[in-house]
Amino acid sequence: MNKFEEYCTKFVQNIGFKEGAVSPTIVSSASFAYGTPEIAEGIFNGSVKKPLYSRMGNPTTARLESIMAEIDGAIGAVATSSGMAATTLATMSLLSSGDEVISIGGLFGGTYSFFSETISRFGVKTSFFDVDEFEKITQAISEKTKIIFLESVGNPNMQLPDIKKIAAIANNAGVALIVDNTITPLSISPIALGADIVVYSTTKVISGNSSALGGCVAFRAINEGNDKFKSKRYDFLTNFIKNTGAMALIPNAKKRALRDFGMSANAHASYQTMLGLETLALRLPRVVKSIEIITEELSKSGLNINHPSLKSHPQHSRYLEQFSNGCGTLFTIDMQTKERAFEFLKRTKIATITANIGDSRTLALHMASTIYSDFDAHTRRFLGITDGLIRVSVGLENPQDIIDDFLNAAK
Ligand SMILES: *Cc1c(COP(=O)(O)O)cnc(C)c1O
Repeated sequence: MNKFEEYCTKFVQNIGFKEGAVSPTIVSSASFAYGTPEIAEGIFNGSVKKPLYSRMGNPTTARLESIMAEIDGAIGAVATSSGMAATTLATMSLLSSGDEVISIGGLFGGTYSFFSETISRFGVKTSFFDVDEFEKITQAISEKTKIIFLESVGNPNMQLPDIKKIAAIANNAGVALIVDNTITPLSISPIALGADIVVYSTTKVISGNSSALGGCVAFRAINEGNDKFKSKRYDFLTNFIKNTGAMALIPNAKKRALRDFGMSANAHASYQTMLGLETLALRLPRVVKSIEIITEELSKSGLNINHPSLKSHPQHSRYLEQFSNGCGTLFTIDMQTKERAFEFLKRTKIATITANIGDSRTLALHMASTIYSDFDAHTRRFLGITDGLIRVSVGLENPQDIIDDFLNAAK
């Protein structure tokens, strides 16, 4: 059974309650009363499992976290206030000044700027590689390298990485692999492919209706015997491993990122995210099917379409072999010039012009004038941003309606 079928059952069965309120309860309290000083002491030293304070964890959010952990075969997950917060939590809980990051593939704008501009200010150096530069990636790993970071699908360059092969490189070198799986939840299981940490923006297809900003980070268990996180490279984890064993990456991330940076999810967003999650396993396969029909038709009509399901895509065979459940909701149209792209966006009646992706509605955006407007020409070229590039996120509409509308808009 593929994961879509498996989770059609699991989501609806696990998100609601069988007694009392059916829909998940929203606990919006910021703080929690401990009752006695003994219980307070126990909560703070970890021997009593009760909520401490909503920055460190919230009962509504905990329900979302346990479901998100299960999707990825993770030992646990930490929900955050946004997808960028998830990337910040996952990376900053492993990095110190002087460390290095290797970043692979076409990166989401915020992530690119986080690595290239923001964390460089704190003495962390990031080098960037294309998905298939395996030799260069291997050579770039030094003893200072703490993280290899990659996106399951390049947004918006639509490059598909060989996650298994990159995980083998990371594991051979003893370096943590973090995969941003925002575009391909359920379709791709990074931990099963050898990754250590998975980050999500739940804002996108997971909640699916633009109702809640959120993120989530799922962590694999630390192995009992040998484990790369027990090496000198990650010696700051020694005490966490001694005290919490397989869970160690989670208390480390909570202490570093939630306690000290405070990028915590709020209960209302976690609730909205769970409502979306209930139908994820229905929505995503529909879009994956639609997108193959739409991109095929539009490309036959002479439009310049980029999607791995097309034979013209450089990673088409990888799409067939390693992405059998599709590669998410995105494709791009290159209209050649900004003027023609704007004309298309003014004429489409179906697409909503917005920076979001993964919504139930079809969305579109001209890349160079918006998300990438403050990037220089060299960086845009590296990220695959051409002058006429429109990113489309396919929604739940009838695919023929989208085809008709887009052909009319492109006239
Ligand atoms: C949107 C997005 C993010 C950032 O998520 P926010 O919830 O907007 O902070 C990170 N990675 C990818 C691939 C995204 O599409």
